[in-house]
Amino acid sequence: MAPEIKYTKLFINNEWVDACSGYTFAAYAPHDGSVIAQVAEGDRADIDLAVTAAKAAFHRDSKWRLLDASARGRLLNKFADLIQRDAQYLGELECCNNGMNIRMVLGIVQKGVNGARYAASLADKIQGDTIPADGDLFSYTLKQPVGVCGLILPWNAPILMFVNKVCTALAAGCTVVVKPAEQTPLTSLALAALLKEAGVPAGVVNVVTGFGPDAGAALTHHPDVAKISFTGSLEVGKQIQQAAGKANLKRVTLELGGKSPLVIMNDADLNLAVTWAAHGVFGNQGQMCFAASRTFVQSGIYDTFVKKAVEFARNIKIGNPSDPNVDHGPQVDGEIMNRVLAYIEKGKKEGARLLTGGNRIGTTGYYVEPTVFADVEDHMTIAKEEIFGPVQCIFKFETLKEVIDRANNTNYGLASGIFTKNINDALHFSKHVEAGNVWINTYLASTAQTPFGGFKDSGVGREKGVDCVEEYLEIKTVTISLPKTF
Ligand code: ADP
Repeated sequence: MAPEIKYTKLFINNEWVDACSGYTFAAYAPHDGSVIAQVAEGDRADIDLAVTAAKAAFHRDSKWRLLDASARGRLLNKFADLIQRDAQYLGELECCNNGMNIRMVLGIVQKGVNGARYAASLADKIQGDTIPADGDLFSYTLKQPVGVCGLILPWNAPILMFVNKVCTALAAGCTVVVKPAEQTPLTSLALAALLKEAGVPAGVVNVVTGFGPDAGAALTHHPDVAKISFTGSLEVGKQIQQAAGKANLKRVTLELGGKSPLVIMNDADLNLAVTWAAHGVFGNQGQMCFAASRTFVQSGIYDTFVKKAVEFARNIKIGNPSDPNVDHGPQVDGEIMNRVLAYIEKGKKEGARLLTGGNRIGTTGYYVEPTVFADVEDHMTIAKEEIFGPVQCIFKFETLKEVIDRANNTNYGLASGIFTKNINDALHFSKHVEAGNVWINTYLASTAQTPFGGFKDSGVGREKGVDCVEEYLEIKTVTISLPKTF
């Protein structure tokens, strides 16, 4: 049963309003495909209203801009308290609308609390430098918020994305318009209500639900938006980067896809490696930008690893994600499910060895079996394209040098991992792999304190970590003439 859904309207200027058009769209439960809510369908006109509200809230005389930086931090901490208070409800709502299992989703909500507190702690530590400029000059820098930010969210971890992006922007002193993914609009609205309860002034945070090509594109083209932060597909990321340079020159942070290599050396702790390789690709049904979607296993342990990986996949508990014993829920919608199934067919056709899974489960909801392919070769489609589903692709390799070249032979560069007991191999790999994150003897280890983002086509800029706030700041250099008086 769906949890109570309290908010389905747009959130503009701290008010709940219908879309200008009056249109709504359906939000679904991927477990059974049922409609759980009708949500306001914002478009260009609503984005205009939201940006106008955010622009007014950014004005130098506004309540928000006059607030002490430490007070911004306290507000964000209050928001974190409220997320903690409502963690169970938010988790159930996300689980119902997105299909992530409830244990994982509650962990994600906790990461959201940590992210909000981390951003809160940065709010009053934004400071510039004093600079020994040449000549009779004295310079210093001020770091100032960039302006109205458009935050475009994906559907795979909506709560965490909302909290990380919104809290970092607010810590910097910006105001925001959030556009949640059309598949998962509900938790963003619930979080907006908590921001209002925390005391965020009107217009500082606005949420416009709706579709990417309408509401999303209107935000990226808007001349009064100074910055876009986007998490989603490479294809849309490229469109956003182009749009961001049209009406004005927007700053852009992009966190896009990946085809991340996980390397298992002969000397690895085998059971640990099998477990993390599975979590790395089956977690959230593979719908993770940093999924370990290419598992490279050294030849000495290849057969044993493959056998254990298949056993692991067969033991994953599949079912309604609201059941705390379930590991594996549905894909987020039918389109994504069909895309994953099409990749599996391509893998079979191109000669990869399907060892388990490969099918849709039942005819209700959008479930795909945890699937393992062995003997995957680098030229195959499943080796090159982002599947974003529960499909483990296992490759064989001989030497570290060879595997680093093969790991880097992709336009993506988001995450990577290596399992080995040899410190030299681990450090060599971490130095040469082209990826924004390297995990050694673990995977998916990302916290509020650690920067996250990609090399190459996996993105531009970083989120989280102590420097994340810089993405929302401009540097202003102030130079004073100091005539010689002696
Ligand atoms: P996926 O392919 O995984 O659904 P997308 O990259 O299409 O991911 O979507 C991520 C987010 O980008 C969603 O909020 C979506 O509405 C938004 N979006 C999609 N197309 C555009 C666009 N042309 N301009 C701006 N935002 C978009």
